[in-house]
Amino acid sequence: MNNFLEYLKTLNQNYDFEAISKAYEVADKMHKNQFRKSGEPYIIHPVETAKILAELGMDTQTVIAGLLHDVVEDTDYTEEQLEENFGKEVALLVDGVTKLGSLVFETKEEAQAENLRKMFLAMSKDIRVLIIKLADRLHNMRTIDFMPPNKIKEKCKETLEIYAPLANRLGMFNIKFELEDIALKHLEPEFYADLSMQINQRKEQREENINVIIKELSEALDKLNIKYEIKGRSKHFYSIYKKMRDKNKQLDEIFDLLAIRVLVETVRDCYAVLGTVHTMWRPIPGRFKDYIAMPKSNMYQSLHTTVFGKDGSPFEIQIRTYQMHEIAEFGIAAHWKYKEGVKSDREEGKLAWLRQTLEWNKDMDDSSEFMEALKVDLFSNQVFVFTPAGKVIELPSSSTPIDFAYKIHSAVGNKCIGAKINGKMVPIDHRLENGNIVEIITSANSKGPSVDWLKIAKSSNARNKIRQWLKKENKSENVEKGKSMLDRYIRRKGYDPQQIIKLQRINRVAKELNCSNTEDLYSSLGYGGTMLSKVLDFLVKFYDEEKKNEQKKQKEIKNFEPKQKAKHEATGGIRVKGIDNILVRLSKCCNPVPGDNIIGFITKGRGVSVHRSDCTNITSLPEEEKGRFIEVEWDLEKEFRSFETDVTVLSEDRKGLFSDVSKICEDMDVHITGVMAKSNSDNTASVALTVQISNVNQIAQLMKRFKSMRGVIDVHRGNNS
Ligand code: MN
Repeated sequence: MNNFLEYLKTLNQNYDFEAISKAYEVADKMHKNQFRKSGEPYIIHPVETAKILAELGMDTQTVIAGLLHDVVEDTDYTEEQLEENFGKEVALLVDGVTKLGSLVFETKEEAQAENLRKMFLAMSKDIRVLIIKLADRLHNMRTIDFMPPNKIKEKCKETLEIYAPLANRLGMFNIKFELEDIALKHLEPEFYADLSMQINQRKEQREENINVIIKELSEALDKLNIKYEIKGRSKHFYSIYKKMRDKNKQLDEIFDLLAIRVLVETVRDCYAVLGTVHTMWRPIPGRFKDYIAMPKSNMYQSLHTTVFGKDGSPFEIQIRTYQMHEIAEFGIAAHWKYKEGVKSDREEGKLAWLRQTLEWNKDMDDSSEFMEALKVDLFSNQVFVFTPAGKVIELPSSSTPIDFAYKIHSAVGNKCIGAKINGKMVPIDHRLENGNIVEIITSANSKGPSVDWLKIAKSSNARNKIRQWLKKENKSENVEKGKSMLDRYIRRKGYDPQQIIKLQRINRVAKELNCSNTEDLYSSLGYGGTMLSKVLDFLVKFYDEEKKNEQKKQKEIKNFEPKQKAKHEATGGIRVKGIDNILVRLSKCCNPVPGDNIIGFITKGRGVSVHRSDCTNITSLPEEEKGRFIEVEWDLEKEFRSFETDVTVLSEDRKGLFSDVSKICEDMDVHITGVMAKSNSDNTASVALTVQISNVNQIAQLMKRFKSMRGVIDVHRGNNS
């Protein structure tokens, strides 16, 4: 105990030593009669775990949780006692670690391992839980020799698949390297032994080489007039192993067995050192990496370059600032080191740098906010649960056993009658949580999913499958039900179903809602797969659209017609008794001109057509239609313009007839817009003219002149000869 506290004091952190020694006492007492596989007292494990955490610079709560991380799980000490004696924060940390520990892995495939890593992150609501778990695992790995061989293999594999990548993700390289090297030692003992032998054989030579390099480099850097530190660096075994395996290389083909690291104070110094290095030794093209300008996603920053030494053997140099170095060693844990550690004038700069690196806009004064920001957003809307066989299933958050069942197989979903979570029966709308072991109870007698399940299921996968089933299983019943439901709903919303529901419209709605036909739509309404309000919304929308289109069409006709037929129509020149703003047109059968006796006829949908009172179309109308007559009169004060009308001249067929007719028009300043002349079998000829005149007097004048022409038999209005 004294040793532990003394050691903690050397770390120069602002720890609450009173609380920590209290935690030590509890852990010591509770684990009293327990021993590790090595025969040592159990307390060594939590103490070593706490030490690792303290070395990382973690805060008081984390160190305490490290000391107590096994008491709730392995002793009579309860969570309540923990909270009472050490506070809620410590209790939550220990609880988190316990939960992670209860997960049983059967890591078989890559995807599974990836899911497990995600689940770990998702489950660690407080990132410190993960850091404690890593420290716990690190000490267990350091002492793994005492485990039975099959357990060793299992733990080592798990370490490589889950824990080392997590350490990497958090930028905690020291822990990652150590975990990997221990795992490698046990998983590939021959390789490991061979490698360490080879490395040891040349150790002296290599150390000598490194010392020469360090000496030469020091002399050069002294001239730069900067503060620096040069360290020899041993490459860890696992990365050598990976290089040899992945790139199929021999040990002596690996460049960076010889490696040194230069630490300086500023980023500018980093590049200055790089310049010096590249003038002293020839760099290997393509081996320079600027992780300062482009940091890795786990916050790592450094300059890497590989150069050829004097004897032609390549070696790697890493150049970074002290700040970058701390981040590289401790990763995310550096945050607590800065927070609780000895105040230094560098602290502000460091934190600012960390913030910037992680691109967090949020103020990170509060460590829970910091951890929230760290917790990968990606996982916040997912939940990871287990099958009884240990397979990880990923579902949307707030999923239920029904979602789980359908994710396994639609047959499992359709036959689901209940569920167990961690061995206990739960209702089927129970919300799944990360790490739950879910077991689905099925029955061959199950009646299948009900409409209510659509409300319970959260995943679209489950909902689609439920809908499919409901659709198939009772179609005709659902169709009838859907029809009457829609009818009632429309009435309740104050619409008239007969007006709103039209076959074509319903067809459009069905298409809109991805139903293959109207029957499908009704059936879907019947079993609750489609919301009534959605259907009505579309119906009303289409109804409005159609109405608007019709109005638009009407308006187009209104705008279009007068323009086209202006010559024939005198809308401004006619007054309709008792009605303003009504469409008026002059009928083409009799072409009335101002001064003619006229009568209006109310047409179906095309306003009032104006005829001459003596027009045969009017006089021959059946009695029952006469109710549609309306009084109209010329209104020439309003508008004076020309009208077109037809006049036909019947005459003896003779030369010069047409030129005489046109001469009269010319004399009277009447413009001819159309003419049709023909010779008849009885030696007569007729000339039908369309002329522009301004009133009835003018046409009378014109007709009088025509009648006075030589050989003329008859002159009349209209174009029928
Ligand atoms: Mn432990």
